[in-house]
Amino acid sequence: MTYRMTFGCGALIALLSAEARALDLVLPTPNRALFDDGGPAFYMYVNRSFEGDSSHPWQGGQYGFWRNPIRTAGGILYTRFHEGLDIRPLKRDASGEPMDPVWAVAAGKVVYANETPGRSNYGRYVVIEHIWDGCPYYTLYGHLKSVAVHKGDTVGQSQIIGALGYTGVGVDRERAHLHFEINLLANRKFDSWHGKFMKEPNWHGMYNGLNLFGLDPARLFLQNAKNPKLTIPQFLAGEEPFYKVRIPNPGTIDILTRYPWLCGGVDPSSPPTWEIAFTKSGLPLRFRPLAEPIPGPQLADVKATQASPYYQTLGRVTRSGSKTGLTENGVRFLRVFTWPD
Ligand SMILES: [Zn+2]
Repeated sequence: MTYRMTFGCGALIALLSAEARALDLVLPTPNRALFDDGGPAFYMYVNRSFEGDSSHPWQGGQYGFWRNPIRTAGGILYTRFHEGLDIRPLKRDASGEPMDPVWAVAAGKVVYANETPGRSNYGRYVVIEHIWDGCPYYTLYGHLKSVAVHKGDTVGQSQIIGALGYTGVGVDRERAHLHFEINLLANRKFDSWHGKFMKEPNWHGMYNGLNLFGLDPARLFLQNAKNPKLTIPQFLAGEEPFYKVRIPNPGTIDILTRYPWLCGGVDPSSPPTWEIAFTKSGLPLRFRPLAEPIPGPQLADVKATQASPYYQTLGRVTRSGSKTGLTENGVRFLRVFTWPD
């Protein structure tokens, strides 16, 4: 079966817009140790208390599953996902206050600035939209001490947008750092999904962290330094799916309007069913059209692991005996993509 093709966003928008550009990134603070060996010179440690021992591993500042260890029959598993990089400051004043500026990693437009630290785990944070190869991506700068830009501002690469700080949850002056993410935006109607499923108010509209799906910024920076022509779709093609789900096609899926390459340019309204490949953290890697209709969302595949996949999928996929499936939480998560379904 074949499906109607639409223009890939790169091809079409490159014709229409002078803004279309390939990836061109700088690190968001003066700390450049990522390009040496990374490690404790680049990452801010986390405070860990596990089985009676306290430790301060820098590894917890990396992107990925590095936090909240549990012991399982198969060994220690890290169950909490960290969606960005925690970059340590280079400079402090005599009283220990961090002094590092924070700047935009690429040219873009400020689409959101949260100036009320108590409203988010990110504390004060800024979101910048970048158009790369015709598609919008969103960098997020969290725990800021102060914000120097406003929603709607156009910013140049390396333009200062704020100061590194320690606002938000679980950060103190000792652990002051920049929390930095590079994201895909899931759904412009996120606010109504949030209103339906969440109890607390959503202060941040579609720039709530739950609607932003982060890729691994460290790997992206390192690969881009080696290959200046790298694109985000090429980068994500190198990511390994952890599980696949199938969903009935609701007709429109907002994320595919921004990133048509996710479905290979297929007309998003035509296939009856989508099979979506996800990383452990729920970052969608591709949407595959299927001709067979299905009655509701189902798990199609999950990597074989010794411990239950529950621990490695943020509780979205579970296994009991030899049976695997989506949890209620998993089904609700899928509706971030299909909402209003
Ligand atoms: Zn962080």
